[in-house]
Amino acid sequence: MGDTIFDKIIRREIPAEIVYETDDVLAFKDLNPQAPVHVLFVPKRALPTLNDATAADAGLLGKLMLAAADYAKREGFDKDGYRAVVNCNEHGGQTVFHLHVHLLAGRRLTWPPG
Ligand code: 5GP
Repeated sequence: MGDTIFDKIIRREIPAEIVYETDDVLAFKDLNPQAPVHVLFVPKRALPTLNDATAADAGLLGKLMLAAADYAKREGFDKDGYRAVVNCNEHGGQTVFHLHVHLLAGRRLTWPPG
């Protein structure tokens, strides 16, 4: 059993504003939002980073991205658009080592990111 802050949120040991849930994925609002909408999609079965994913995780990774897209459509962010990103390790800006997809929406996002 993982012991990151996200594992504790999945186990409901610490609070989070949960906005979406499936058997495999939990999504909740980011504590420090970088856009008007900033939701984190996390697999309930933890992988520390994208580097740790193997072919056996293809289904789970697909479910994670589809959950983000489903939520975006459900909330109406799909028309104007949004960004779904994974940070990996230090240079990617990863700070919580439980793989997650950031969904950012609600403003025009710049590219490239900093
Ligand atoms: P990373 O930097 O690993 O890609 O993203 C981690 C994200 O988790 C950050 O955007 C950060 O604001 C968010 N975060 C860190 N701790 C908590 C927490 O306790 N609750 C919630 N909801 N988000 C958190």
